[in-house]
Amino acid sequence: MKQFQYVRPLTQLAVLAVINKPGTKIIAGGTNLVDLMKRGVTAPDKLVDINQLPLKSITATPKGLHIGALALNSVVSEDKLVAEKQPLLAMALKAGASPQLRNMATVGGNMMQRTRCTYFYDTTMPCNKRVPGSGCGAYEGINRMHAIFGASTQCIAVHPSDMCVGLAALDAVVVIAGKKGERRLPFTEFHRLPGDHPETDNRLGPGELIVAVEIPDNHFAKNSYYLKIRDRQSYAFALVSVAAALDIENGTIRQARLAMGGVAHKPWRLFEAEKSLIGKQVSENNFQQAAQLAMQGAKGYGYNSFKLKLAPASITEALKHAAGLV
Ligand code: SF4
Repeated sequence: MKQFQYVRPLTQLAVLAVINKPGTKIIAGGTNLVDLMKRGVTAPDKLVDINQLPLKSITATPKGLHIGALALNSVVSEDKLVAEKQPLLAMALKAGASPQLRNMATVGGNMMQRTRCTYFYDTTMPCNKRVPGSGCGAYEGINRMHAIFGASTQCIAVHPSDMCVGLAALDAVVVIAGKKGERRLPFTEFHRLPGDHPETDNRLGPGELIVAVEIPDNHFAKNSYYLKIRDRQSYAFALVSVAAALDIENGTIRQARLAMGGVAHKPWRLFEAEKSLIGKQVSENNFQQAAQLAMQGAKGYGYNSFKLKLAPASITEALKHAAGLV
């Protein structure tokens, strides 16, 4: 591994003063970054450890929940406020990784984790995300885990997070600090599609730091569900996952939220399917129709084409669980 500098600033100002330099990476839990460094996928000159910053709290505000970027995944998943107000987030977190990893991983780090495309981690293979312009090993390769929505000829990788799928469904907002102050970005706009620049995963600018996510209050707590389909029951990334949240009154759907994981370069929100459910009765038939609508534009690349059937079945199943039909 290349030698690197390690610094641990004590204040946010001190962090912001050093993270805009090329070759500098932020480290918190390190559950993905350290692997990337050990494999030679990334080789920073300097690591800025942000664990001294006071960004661990989970608080209720007049508008919703405020979760600090350094809150541990394990802590958030067991938090009473989260369980009461946003149980979908707790479910998504508990579906991710392993207890040991959740004890180290932070909310901000979870958002910043890189794809688990095997070609990305194998430095002998072409990968436009790792080395722009080198090609995409997965496009005509072993692409069983890869995207069916929003991919490009440059990259068909998926974002690996479960937590982020839950946050996308819940209309979360990312609070980002920079030298000029704070800005807020809808969670669904934080991660980006690959296009011609798959090396860029998200819209965090140079010198910026994620400080929190905020989730507005909603009426989804009673009827929400996170379904994760994977090759084994724990410590496996999603083939397909679905975050489903419904606001139901007397059997009629007032509001719906749907997002998928394992299918795109970002958490994939199903806006059209959500709209189609508003005003409809809770029924398997209506859920199946919404699932079919969600599949518009989906495309398989060979080994992952099974997802074209698995995805709508998973959407229907997640909605049934959320509605209490199963
Ligand atoms: Fe690299 Fe993306 Fe292709 Fe995987 S899918 S090899 S990450 S360019």
